[in-house]
Amino acid sequence: MPTYIVLLGPPGAGKGTQAKILSTELGIPQVSTGDLFRAMKTQDTPFARKVQEIMASGALVPDDVTIQMVKERLHQIDCDGGAILDGFPRTTAQAEALGKMLAEEFNSSIAVVPLLTLDENDVVRRISGRRQCPECKTIYNVDPSDTEATCPKDGEKLELREDDKPGVVQQRYSVYLENTAPLVDYYRNKGLLAEFDAKQTVEKVTGDLLSAIRSRIAAG
Ligand code: AMP
Repeated sequence: MPTYIVLLGPPGAGKGTQAKILSTELGIPQVSTGDLFRAMKTQDTPFARKVQEIMASGALVPDDVTIQMVKERLHQIDCDGGAILDGFPRTTAQAEALGKMLAEEFNSSIAVVPLLTLDENDVVRRISGRRQCPECKTIYNVDPSDTEATCPKDGEKLELREDDKPGVVQQRYSVYLENTAPLVDYYRNKGLLAEFDAKQTVEKVTGDLLSAIRSRIAAG
């Protein structure tokens, strides 16, 4: 039986960081719609350009293309054991489509929906110091005024994501509140939600997540 985990939480709560660790610990891939859309940067098609434009503004890519992209990704062989969904679903329509897709095409359902909680001030503070290594994709938190920070693993200069720039962050947070926050109650009502305080250390959050996930899996 494949295991599907949906990570919920505002931008900057650590979903990507935790998804990578959980992926290693649980042996199932991280499926990040943000990463999949960012990977389209190298494609020179009108659609790929439109996606980059939408992302740079902090808005959401339309549901139909997002759902189709996730469906294709989940059908790939490395997702046979399930997936850790990071950044999807982000709207009620996506959540409904995911439930239907898992039931009809994978004869499965979501095991647990961990919610990483973080308030708006911390979202803005964290994202303004968030940098990514363009080579190994590791995410770091640096002093926001440090524009010269490099990756300790491969020496590459760390980059600020286009949509992590001031202004876009506020927009992304409003989009989260309006479109994605309703999913908290949606999954709570289904008995799938488990909450974690994202202000704790990465290690503490990982430990709590792993024990909650393992006990849900064991309970079937
Ligand atoms: P993320 O890396 O998850 O913060 O996503 C970066 C951007 O990709 C978002 O601000 C959206 O523009 C787009 N995106 C990622 N996931 C979704 C989704 N599930 N639905 C619509 N747009 C998305």
